[in-house]
Amino acid sequence: MTDRSNGETEVRDGVAAAYAEARRALGVGDGGATDATESPVTVGVAPGIRAVALRTPTLPPATHTACYLVGPSEGAGEIFVVDPASPYPDQQDALDRILERERVAAVLLTHHHGDHVGGAAHLASRGVPVWAHAETARRIDVSVARELADGDACGPVRAIFTPGHAPGHLCFHDPASGALIAGDMVAGLGTILIDPSEGDMRVYLESLEVMARLEPSLLLPAHGPMITDALGKLREYVAHRLMREGRVFEALSLVAKRPATPRELVPIAYADTPKLLWGLAERSLIAHLLKLEADGRARRNGDLWAPA
Ligand SMILES: [Zn+2]
Repeated sequence: MTDRSNGETEVRDGVAAAYAEARRALGVGDGGATDATESPVTVGVAPGIRAVALRTPTLPPATHTACYLVGPSEGAGEIFVVDPASPYPDQQDALDRILERERVAAVLLTHHHGDHVGGAAHLASRGVPVWAHAETARRIDVSVARELADGDACGPVRAIFTPGHAPGHLCFHDPASGALIAGDMVAGLGTILIDPSEGDMRVYLESLEVMARLEPSLLLPAHGPMITDALGKLREYVAHRLMREGRVFEALSLVAKRPATPRELVPIAYADTPKLLWGLAERSLIAHLLKLEADGRARRNGDLWAPA
């Protein structure tokens, strides 16, 4: 197991690198410094679901990841801990104090990113089994006791396979309340990065449709506040990505006489995005180009792209 408990976040995937790059560009720290005034507390967000916001090294403007506790409170029954999130020792201690009063059946992971699995090894070392999708299990240094597949029941919630942001991404649906724990499929604050190193724009859009078909009453994202207009938000996400895809295609068409690199296309397709974030935008743009290629609308020769 790679020791993440020293507060240092290992940059081992494209998304973690992109998050770090965005924090540097925006001049915000890594979030690791202890703020003594901050003490995470549980907040009820749906019947049988509580949230604990833990400070994490994530994508600005978000600074925290929500860890969700599913099941009855205060030891009245077993609970499941979704995304113990933080690699920082003070945040892990705070979560430990909250969990002292609980009987934890298992940790459930939405996906493998460091701002979601940061506390998993710590809880595993205390004997809590970790459950995750096989594609998540192979990307983390934590032993996964049970590999979850689409539809599997985990106490009161059901795993929903939603790849696209990450290959093993799961949402967790509570049929009783209609709440959907959404991981990094949607955000209440900031944006969701589809990084070509492990994300897939076409698959991501399909997974948003899978989520919409559940007709959730509430989306519980990992970053930012809960989303009460669940279907509206899912529709907005699909529309926004298709709008951006349109701009990427327009940019390609503008430079049609001379194939262009993704970097040359960014200032055209992301003219509305602050220049500081163009490094991040380039990754998303490549994800859009790959979808356009899969759809038969773009072609490439090495790093040079043109309309098909
Ligand atoms: Zn993520």
